[in-house]
Amino acid sequence: MPSTRSYTVNVSFDTPVAHPFSYLVPEGTTVAPGQRVVAPLGNAERVGVVVGLREGVTPGLKPFIRVLDAAPLLDADTLELTRWIAAQSLSSLGSTLAALTPPVVAAASVSEREAGVGRGWADIDGSRLRTPPAHTRAGAEPTLPEVFIGAGRERRLIERLGTTDAPALVIVPDVEAAGRWTQRLEKYGTVARLDSGVDDEARARAWTALAAGHRRLAVGTRSALLAPLPPGGTLALVDEHEAAHKPPGAPRLHSRDVVLERAARARLTAALTSATPSVETWWRADSGRARLVTGDAAPWPAVQLADTRGILKVEPLTPPLARAVREALAAGRRALLLVGRLTSALACDECGTVLRCPQCDVAAAYTRAARTLMCRVCGREAPMLDTCPGCHGRRLSPFGWGVERVEHAVRRRFPKARVARYDPDATRGAKAERQRAEAAAAEIVIGTRGALRLFGPGSLGIAGFVSPDQLLRMPDFRAGERLFALLWGAAERVAAGGGLIVQSQTPAHYVFEAFARQDLAAFYRHEMKFRGELGYPPFRRLAVITVTAASAAAMRTLADEIAAALTSVSTFTVYGPASARRDRARRIVVKGHADLASRLGEALADFRRPRPKSRGIIDVEVDPVEWPS
Ligand SMILES: [Zn+2]
Ligand SMILES: [Zn+2]
Repeated sequence: MPSTRSYTVNVSFDTPVAHPFSYLVPEGTTVAPGQRVVAPLGNAERVGVVVGLREGVTPGLKPFIRVLDAAPLLDADTLELTRWIAAQSLSSLGSTLAALTPPVVAAASVSEREAGVGRGWADIDGSRLRTPPAHTRAGAEPTLPEVFIGAGRERRLIERLGTTDAPALVIVPDVEAAGRWTQRLEKYGTVARLDSGVDDEARARAWTALAAGHRRLAVGTRSALLAPLPPGGTLALVDEHEAAHKPPGAPRLHSRDVVLERAARARLTAALTSATPSVETWWRADSGRARLVTGDAAPWPAVQLADTRGILKVEPLTPPLARAVREALAAGRRALLLVGRLTSALACDECGTVLRCPQCDVAAAYTRAARTLMCRVCGREAPMLDTCPGCHGRRLSPFGWGVERVEHAVRRRFPKARVARYDPDATRGAKAERQRAEAAAAEIVIGTRGALRLFGPGSLGIAGFVSPDQLLRMPDFRAGERLFALLWGAAERVAAGGGLIVQSQTPAHYVFEAFARQDLAAFYRHEMKFRGELGYPPFRRLAVITVTAASAAAMRTLADEIAAALTSVSTFTVYGPASARRDRARRIVVKGHADLASRLGEALADFRRPRPKSRGIIDVEVDPVEWPS
């Protein structure tokens, strides 16, 4: 490189600030977009990613300190993809990059000075990063995303990945799954592991090995979504319906959206697996934009629906469930009783009618003190009803069973059995470990959703859903989808000849009927109709804006200003502001179309600029997967 020219780089840091910062390239240093550098920011030295490069300098620019990576971590196309991810999730580019690049390893320095030069100065101009819409490139026939469902879905995908020569990157929901997938893939070659189940240096090395083409197979969690993968490769997402694929923190976009976008841009084959695909994915397949890859139907337990209308106020186990547990124990098999979180929804003990928001059709939350019902979606508040709208009965109550109460009842009924409680969703640390160990050795486990992970396929004699109505009454439009996935997951864990018992006040609900018949299509048909009629995803996009401020007055003013700005967007439907987090926040919900993120970004631009904290804090969550309480 002729050293007579001077260059400026734009660097994005892991801060909420949307814009990059400019630095002078130190003399004798070569650097390219996609490489990380250490640079002065404020009073500290920070690591950032170079996102742009241009010839010439503005007087007064500071130089950055040093280059961290021997070669760019991301090529120009992938860097462009990160801009899309940041825009879709209203996250800053810097925090998006920080979340989706390997850990910084202390020893990593530029051992090969030339490495960064390879791409040349001229063809990567940060101000004009190439934007190739890959799916329209000549000669590139886009491949349809594949969705592996049914029995043996993971085995079938693994065999496919193992027996071709094409490279593959498998994204799993957690570290445990990463270990399992690595083990299963390893018989086809060394697997580059990119998740935190291995140390930082190994992760960084794995990334480099992939970039150099030294590894064909790779496994990682969310942070590996952008790991090097050449065209023609397979980008797989395991258990695509899992909320774990959209963890807290930037970028707040579900990994499924990233996988599908990356595959389309970079000529990769997207492969998703799920026993119960998200409604988004099913709809995609239904409309010809993805292909379902089915196997044989899984063996299905005998499903029994026990109607609990008018009963079950003092005893959580109906006679059919108690009998099934007794029979399982007698046969030397294990029983799992699933209990949901208690909700603040009200239902009629006589007929099972749930008090719902008439506009949103989600269960309304009951506040005892104020005797009001409130919708967590649209914020609508109404006085408590005296009689049931279904049967005019007067027994409306926030009915439900907690894990401890069920455990107590089970111990009383089965005094000789080894009984354990396991609620990993509410327990952490050493206590959770102790619970897990006890549950692993128990004959009867009483647990919440997360307890399912304790059991392998076919390991249960019986699974019982004590009060799944609690899950249906979650104030979340995804409540049905969640419960359906949980039922299905439990059924896959019941051994041949075993049973599954559902106790419900609404046994004819389509979730239960479709499940009992092992009929995925029937469930999604109903669910898509419901979502379509009420304008929920995937038919419209949603965003939740939460406003907090030092004073109640400032909070109200800011929330009202934001609501007014959003209401002026013609394609938006705006709900709120309404009280949230026990009056500590104001919440606004927006429904829009596919362009929701960009329109939201424009409408909120003035509010998202750096501003004094005293004026309030705005949190924007696009496409929420779990409805905030
Ligand atoms: Zn509502
Ligand atoms: Zn009723």
